[in-house]
Amino acid sequence: MATPRIEITLGDITTEDVDAVVNAANSSLLGGGGVDGAIHAAAGPDLLAECRRVRASDYPDGLPTGRAVITGAGRMPARHVVHTVGPNRHVGQTDPALLESCFRESLRVADEAGCRSVAFPAISAGVYGWNVHEVARIAVRTVQTASCENVDLVRFVLFDKRSEDAFQLALG
Ligand code: ADP
Repeated sequence: MATPRIEITLGDITTEDVDAVVNAANSSLLGGGGVDGAIHAAAGPDLLAECRRVRASDYPDGLPTGRAVITGAGRMPARHVVHTVGPNRHVGQTDPALLESCFRESLRVADEAGCRSVAFPAISAGVYGWNVHEVARIAVRTVQTASCENVDLVRFVLFDKRSEDAFQLALG
């Protein structure tokens, strides 16, 4: 068991050649805007079909905030997508423990699936309205205190320079 090393990069997470890409999904698991829309567009219809099956069999009421579930990655270079639902500030979900849970649970399910490398976006820093500096602090701290059997690399893939700077600052 070891703590994964952290990399920070600017880019489009859908092109990452890692074992698992984390999706900032919504609880329906049926796609949405932002990074969720980009992942479904890049992965193609197989991912949506698998998400529908997971939703129907395991989460008929939707995936709860802070939880994570793993699927294939369709046409993306990654092997898996880990879907997690970040807290939405606009509906009063302001508890940092929920966001911490997204990073911790995503890492746990990827580790259990034997993944060695995992790419994360800035969960909840888009439509869900969290400050990217707070997201960055929580994300970095959660990975730095994690202990994994298989995951040895966590790459934060940020879509804009301001978010990349926030993660660099949090990493120190
Ligand atoms: P949430 O609803 O959890 O806030 P969003 O998708 O709206 O999720 O935004 C989360 C973060 O993902 C934002 O910082 C957004 O800029 C970023 N993002 C959007 N598309 C991509 C992409 N293709 N690759 C990496 N990050 C992305």
